[in-house]
Amino acid sequence: MKKLEKITEKLKYQRKNFWKEFPQKEKEKVYQFCEGYKKFLNTCKTDRESIEIAVNTAIKKKYTDLDSSPSGKKIYRTFRKKNAAFALIGEKKISAGVNLIVSHIDAPRVDLKQNPLYQDSETSLGMMRTHYYGGVKKYQWMSTPLALHGVFIKSNGEAVKVNIGENEDDPVFVMPDLLPHLAKEEQYSKKIGDAVNASMMNLVFNSIPYLDIADEKIKEAVKLNALVLLNEKYDLVEENFLSAELELVPAGKARDCGLDKSMILGYGQDDRVCAYTSLEALFDIKKNERTAIVYLADKEEIGSDSNTGAKSIFIVDFIADLLKYNNENYDSSTLRKTLINSQIISADVNAGLNPNFPNVHEAQNAVHLGFGVSVTKYTGSGGKGGSNDANAEFNAKIIDLFNREKVNWQTGMLGKVDVGGGGTIAKFMAEYGAEVIDCGPGVLGMHSLFELTSKADVYSAFKAYKAFMEKA
Ligand code: MN
Ligand code: MN
Repeated sequence: MKKLEKITEKLKYQRKNFWKEFPQKEKEKVYQFCEGYKKFLNTCKTDRESIEIAVNTAIKKKYTDLDSSPSGKKIYRTFRKKNAAFALIGEKKISAGVNLIVSHIDAPRVDLKQNPLYQDSETSLGMMRTHYYGGVKKYQWMSTPLALHGVFIKSNGEAVKVNIGENEDDPVFVMPDLLPHLAKEEQYSKKIGDAVNASMMNLVFNSIPYLDIADEKIKEAVKLNALVLLNEKYDLVEENFLSAELELVPAGKARDCGLDKSMILGYGQDDRVCAYTSLEALFDIKKNERTAIVYLADKEEIGSDSNTGAKSIFIVDFIADLLKYNNENYDSSTLRKTLINSQIISADVNAGLNPNFPNVHEAQNAVHLGFGVSVTKYTGSGGKGGSNDANAEFNAKIIDLFNREKVNWQTGMLGKVDVGGGGTIAKFMAEYGAEVIDCGPGVLGMHSLFELTSKADVYSAFKAYKAFMEKA
């Protein structure tokens, strides 16, 4: 090696292109790993579906329910069917602090309103009124095939699951956009954010009227027919909608993207990519001194509020009950110290540098697709408002760990200062006094119907989370 090359390598920080710098054997692992990930994306399109699949997988890996008959070192708990935590008890006492990874399993989507069904008087189409959930660009959800996922709860408490639009023979649904020919006043003259407003986001549900030879003047016969069909299929009445949770998501599967199949295009990768990689990492742990916990939270996209969001007491209560299960003190002081002694990765995606919109990023500090999982010291907006700003000591510890464990990583922030901003679960976890840092792969087209990730970064996230739980 020439002197200049030597000194450059020694002194300069340079993010590494995974495909260029990592061995062929590891590249093969990347492709293999991502097959499982795509399956997860295809079967977990909602909060509830993600928890169900995660728990079923954990049970196969011999995890036991803390609330029924827990045994051994592998413990889990689900909470209101929309969030869950999985723990692998380590060699040290739990009160010495846990290594916890939190991600979220909700994603931006379009919900049905509580009283959604109506018949449009002009067109006689059966329609559903909707309410978008999370930060969506409304126009992206128009004129695209949507699947209906969710659950009705009948008066006897029985849950009726709905999933229409994912099988090849299933029908799909659509909220029709306006044709360009007539969009001059209605859309083109407006700001992009106003081109589609929430009241235009109505779903075409059905079009055939209920036919009754005896009475040809049935009022709203198309709406009635929708109810008849739903009743035949699910034994439901209209009132069941009023308590239901019904979510519209892009229909179809996650796909390989790019000629070299190096990327994945799919819905809900924010943040199911971190949910999947952290769970797989937990299941792959060989030996851990500190107790490892993977926490899948709901409601991040609307601020982590509600009883299934990361602001709820669930995770603290889980750790308290783990202390008890492990025959340790579980008084309030011990619990507080356990939290303070803990290390937490807030595992969420970051905005990848987008070649179509370079102006919103500052490339040197942005996340580059295919250059590894991002270690993000702070998020927030403006003067770092609303962020968790990880301690330099903890940040350096994580970087050193990743270097030792040959994790492909890079530093990355969301965008240029003052261009916008955002945050995630980190700041709520930081309230417990634990060390907290953000870490996750970059995504292009985040919150769109089809988000783009690099398979290399997905695998790097898995490796990073495993290193953290085994060795941090
Ligand atoms: Mn997220
Ligand atoms: Mn998000």
